[in-house]
Amino acid sequence: MPSDAMPSDSLTSLDGGVDGYGSAIRKRENTQGRDLSYPPLPEPLTVPVYDNHTHLEISDGEHPLSYREQLDRASSVGVRGVIQVGGDVETSRWSAACALIEPRMLAAVAIHPNEAPALDAAGTLDDALAVINELAGQPRVVAVGETGLDFFRTGEEGRAAQFRSFEAHIRIAKENNLALQIHDRNAHEAVIETLLKVGAPERTVFHCFSGDADMARLCADHGWYMSFAGNVTFKNASLLRDALFVAPRNLLLVETDAPFLTPLPYRGRPNAPYLLPNTLRGMAAHLETDVSLLSAQITANTELVYGRWDAEPVTAAHDDPGPDPTPRGGIA
Ligand SMILES: [Zn+2]
Repeated sequence: MPSDAMPSDSLTSLDGGVDGYGSAIRKRENTQGRDLSYPPLPEPLTVPVYDNHTHLEISDGEHPLSYREQLDRASSVGVRGVIQVGGDVETSRWSAACALIEPRMLAAVAIHPNEAPALDAAGTLDDALAVINELAGQPRVVAVGETGLDFFRTGEEGRAAQFRSFEAHIRIAKENNLALQIHDRNAHEAVIETLLKVGAPERTVFHCFSGDADMARLCADHGWYMSFAGNVTFKNASLLRDALFVAPRNLLLVETDAPFLTPLPYRGRPNAPYLLPNTLRGMAAHLETDVSLLSAQITANTELVYGRWDAEPVTAAHDDPGPDPTPRGGIA
């Protein structure tokens, strides 16, 4: 679940699987008024980068792509790998399982802050957190996320559950020595207070950074990473670009949050890791720096936060029976 999901952006479950075909297990329902075709491939980057936050479990567009097709397209334009991010038990399991068989993918696992209130009300939040803790110990799971606070989509009544869940995720990240990927929507102060109260993990990332220049300075003071998404290219995002401008280069990361937040000039169309170069080029233009220099810096930062994509081997090779449009069974 993305930072910019609108109320119309509901997701439905699909019967997908992780058996080498890589069918998505969620579908984006918001089709109204959008161009549902995938944008063209950008010019390849000279220096490769990583997309440190994406949702390949969510299908979008008229002709959805499997995660392998997504990663093939990404590779062809210099996007070397992705962090595949879960937001509930099922998508976290899917993320961890895919990362085990796909060398270009590492995984992040968590209960999204907008999922926590319903689980808490049902009395199952602790069970879900126990699954996340277990997944956090698996090979090629390199981050706990996305977790955090969302005061945009969740009202007052759900906040206690969000805080409880966020604090638990911070502890899981530290106990497993993993990076933390934070979802912060309309909740900057509360997120920062919670991080300071519980103690932030050594490698803490604000996914889809949405603060202003002052917040960027504060994050810099604490050594927290700021990951910019396609919305940094939007016309109305001058505060975000101010934040980018003051963020130290050694704390910058880049992401798609696909299928959401498609960078200009394709805003509204399905987003995908292969469109990361558009965001990166927008950032480099704003910073008046060379795209390759920025790519090299961000790649170094990304590997410091998550390690190298080949640090832990995949445990099984893909079967390669070719494209198969048939949805497969879930991974239970
Ligand atoms: Zn996300």
